[in-house]
Amino acid sequence: MTLTGQMMDQPLSISALIEYAEKYHGDTEIVSRRTEGDIHRYTYADAAVRSRQLASALQKNGVEPGTRLATLAWNGYRHLEIYYAVSGIGAICHTVNPRLFPEQIGWILNHAEDSHIFVDLTFLPLIEAVYASLTAKPTVVVLTDRAHMPDSSLDLVCYEELLAQGDSSGFEWPVLDEQTASSLCYTSGTTGNPKGVLYSHRSTVLHAWASCMPDVLNLSATDVILPVVPMFHVNAWGLPYAAAMVGAKLVFPGAGLDGPNLCELFSNEGVTLTAGVPTVWLAVLNYLAETGGNLGVLNRTVIGGSACPPSMIDALQDKYGVRVIHAWGMTEMSPIGTIGAPKARHVANDSFRPLQEKQGRPPYGVDMKIVDADGRDLPWDGKAYGDLWVRGPWICSGYYKPEKPDPHENGWFPTGDVATIDADGYMQIVDRSKDVVKSGGEWISSIELENIAMAHPAVAEAACIAARHEKWDERPLLIVIRKPGAVVDEAELLSHFEGKIAKWWLPDAVLFVDEIPHTATGKVQKLKLRERYGDYLITSQVTV
Ligand code: AMP
Repeated sequence: MTLTGQMMDQPLSISALIEYAEKYHGDTEIVSRRTEGDIHRYTYADAAVRSRQLASALQKNGVEPGTRLATLAWNGYRHLEIYYAVSGIGAICHTVNPRLFPEQIGWILNHAEDSHIFVDLTFLPLIEAVYASLTAKPTVVVLTDRAHMPDSSLDLVCYEELLAQGDSSGFEWPVLDEQTASSLCYTSGTTGNPKGVLYSHRSTVLHAWASCMPDVLNLSATDVILPVVPMFHVNAWGLPYAAAMVGAKLVFPGAGLDGPNLCELFSNEGVTLTAGVPTVWLAVLNYLAETGGNLGVLNRTVIGGSACPPSMIDALQDKYGVRVIHAWGMTEMSPIGTIGAPKARHVANDSFRPLQEKQGRPPYGVDMKIVDADGRDLPWDGKAYGDLWVRGPWICSGYYKPEKPDPHENGWFPTGDVATIDADGYMQIVDRSKDVVKSGGEWISSIELENIAMAHPAVAEAACIAARHEKWDERPLLIVIRKPGAVVDEAELLSHFEGKIAKWWLPDAVLFVDEIPHTATGKVQKLKLRERYGDYLITSQVTV
């Protein structure tokens, strides 16, 4: 018979994170660029007091456990307070991506039936545009003080006035079951309606704990963390929780996600770690090349959301001394799935650089495998590729109020990505299964072709799509934005692929364009590109 352990049964909870930061790192700063235009500074102690005050105000206003409260906001201290206050009282912090189309935002708010929407000044017009279509008629709270309250056709509540109704001193965080839902984030699905992923206190704390591990983000109280990744994209990849867990200084860039604003914060605030999608770095690197600036004391950056081009790894590491941590994950995974961290022998013989192009290996807590079309395991030889399946305590077990049956396969979550895994457990994304180019039954990785194109000095951005082909069904078509003033033609760019890939992988054509569309989370919108250019190889014409 088993014996029960005699350890304290303390549920993992999000409120305990901010309590810890208040008690042990109370004077550590949180710095925010505000939509009002200025820089705001306070400490973890202030954030904890105001989170309790907001929690108390929300309870006074009738917010019950289980209620969903939406945010449409940039990264900033008020958004952080909502993260802690809402989850801390057993309600659900539902971050909405303001870059989605208004109809999608309306659909998501109706699906979640939010009781409140906390909105930054910048995004109020979005809510005004969709409000009539919202069935739950949520209370709209504007994240500002009385002096900056805007005129509106809607009845608005001022955040600072709402907060003032609360009492921080008499408030104690309720003890919640650790499986209580804490936050909600919808996937930016390219087809169909968005799907809601409902995180719990337990999954959030375990994910934050894992993020801090040395082979993951190696976070500490000496770090200064600037999440470029928005708090509406998988909870800024969990950084607002992990930072509190170690007492690291936080720097929130607000709406200033461009090269000049970010570089100013990197230098002025002594940022040591940042995180974001590759497109953000395209802008920052261009800005640095133009101005001859530097990245201050930044020493590592987490890049994920899309494959990090090798040329970007080289530029950041060799020119600016910033180590690239290439990461892969999904909204459904909180999001961390794999991280590019070396093993001892890679350090000993300085052999890690090529492996950084892979998406990395899982930390403890994530289990993965690749399978064929019948769900049979494929070998881990770095060559065989198949559908990537994952499982673990911070991976979703089903969607919130699903429209379709649960996608799980025997306890595994099929990611929709196609990948290889090598003998050391390093995973490489070949493609999103929808984006892989199926040429005569053989597969071509659009990511690999994009990475090669991006390494050409005249290329600013490249996207490869499966274009319809009469003989081979699909063939790769490369779509390229040239760098300003750069000269390169199709023949030269194609010759740049020689010796780097099998001949039959060579793109059939190169199209030079001025713009490549991106999704609300910064990924190339391949669906849109396929709609526009999918018949190019048949007709050599663009569908407008
Ligand atoms: P999202 O849930 O919006 O963050 O999107 C998750 C998807 O982004 C994954 O299933 C991958 O297709 C893609 N993705 C995330 N990180 C990477 C990466 N490092 N390399 C390639 N694709 C990635």
